[in-house]
Amino acid sequence: MSKPYEKNIVIIGGGIIGCTAAYYLSHHPSYSPSTTSITLLEASKRGAAQGASGKAGGLVAKWAYPRELVDVSFTEHVRLASEHNGTDRWGWRFVGCGSWEGRGEVTNDEGSKSGVGKGGARKSLEKTLGLDGGKSTKSARKAKGLPDDLTWVSEDLTASYSPMAPAGDTAQVHPYLFTTSMLELAQSKGVTFTSGRATSIEREGGCVTSVSYTDVETGEVGKTIRASHVILAAGAWSPSLLPTLPISATRAHSITIHPASGVTIAPYVLFTEIALSQSNSKRTTTVSPEIYARPTNEVYACGPGDSSKLPMTVDDVVVDEEACESIRQHVASISKELKEGAVDKHQACFLPVASIGGGPIVGEATKIAKGLIVATGHTCWGICNAPGTAKAISELVMDGKIGCVNLKKLDPARYLP
Ligand SMILES: Cc1cc2nc3c(=O)[nH]c(=O)nc-3n(C[C@H](O)[C@H](O)[C@H](O)COP(=O)(O)OP(=O)(O)OC[C@H]3O[C@@H](n4cnc5c(N)ncnc54)[C@H](O)[C@@H]3O)c2cc1C
Repeated sequence: MSKPYEKNIVIIGGGIIGCTAAYYLSHHPSYSPSTTSITLLEASKRGAAQGASGKAGGLVAKWAYPRELVDVSFTEHVRLASEHNGTDRWGWRFVGCGSWEGRGEVTNDEGSKSGVGKGGARKSLEKTLGLDGGKSTKSARKAKGLPDDLTWVSEDLTASYSPMAPAGDTAQVHPYLFTTSMLELAQSKGVTFTSGRATSIEREGGCVTSVSYTDVETGEVGKTIRASHVILAAGAWSPSLLPTLPISATRAHSITIHPASGVTIAPYVLFTEIALSQSNSKRTTTVSPEIYARPTNEVYACGPGDSSKLPMTVDDVVVDEEACESIRQHVASISKELKEGAVDKHQACFLPVASIGGGPIVGEATKIAKGLIVATGHTCWGICNAPGTAKAISELVMDGKIGCVNLKKLDPARYLP
């Protein structure tokens, strides 16, 4: 008879947090597949990274927040890219990143819509909160400041461009490729991927004991996996398993554009403020799409968030085509290159937002049960902060305490009643 495992780790959620946790656990020095079993449960029929982790921009920045996670995460992103050829495998590279302000030229009134999906008030994704002031300085506004190679936005329409951080402080990954690479590397060390929607986390005597789930392929309900440790990384869906978690969901739309062949898109990420005037009135609307050049000459752009209702699973997320078309028009309004490009993806996803205390929430929820580890609420910085989160969790599970960083501020005890 084979010996029972010393640790049975179940990760709920195959987004960037869950997949990167699987990578760090399976690469921890004391991990052995003969003593530790790791199972990653993912509710989507289409596999990992179908939510925010596959549809995000992919910025990795030293100026992101919270500080404690960013410091570990940035260094780890650099290491992972160098160890696993992230440049080819997941589009790792350093990028210029700046705030761009100017006018947009629209050909009809459609372009002056806000880009917010049906489902509620416009919500900022709040990426620039980590910067002092968050916007360009007055002196930078006076001069246009456009870098020589940033030729894919119209110089005439530019009022100002100012870098957000010094060169070397901002990088990017392709989030879908990064997440699925983390999973593949974890699987190569013995992690099991299971298509299943977790329905409950069982506990006994103050400790987690198992996870019940519905098999996504067969529809069979009430299947269980034994667990000594459960990592709850189900993004915006995490409260469906732990209802007291103060996590809310914000939906955001994005598109990808392929510029015409022969057009080179220099590596910049732009946080824009575009003043659009309506042809039949003097009113001006300001829109703020984020625009990301990617190494494959693909360009990604996203609009603001909205508060539409979180559906049952990631596969049920509805895309509001009008919101996507608005993003396209806003981006096209400042760039001939993007206007003439072919739109590829129209997509939407929900990002997990900690509704109190800023978040994310990372650590063992001992108030609920020993062995229950929460890792969610990464808001607009989950791609950047996944490696730091995952490294900390792997230490918590394998060493019994987090050694790489002090995460007291993110401890579930501060967030759970
Ligand atoms: C428009 C946009 C742009 C962004 N840009 C950036 C950026 O440039 N840089 C950055 O750092 N961050 C960015 N983000 C934020 C980032 O995308 C998120 O913080 C991150 O993806 C969250 O990852 P996650 O794994 O927690 O959640 P998700 O990616 O949502 O993953 C959760 C997974 O759990 C699964 N799941 C849910 N319920 C269950 C269940 N019961 N059982 C099993 N599985 C379940 C879901 O199917 C899903 O796959 C952006 C977000 C948006 C929306």
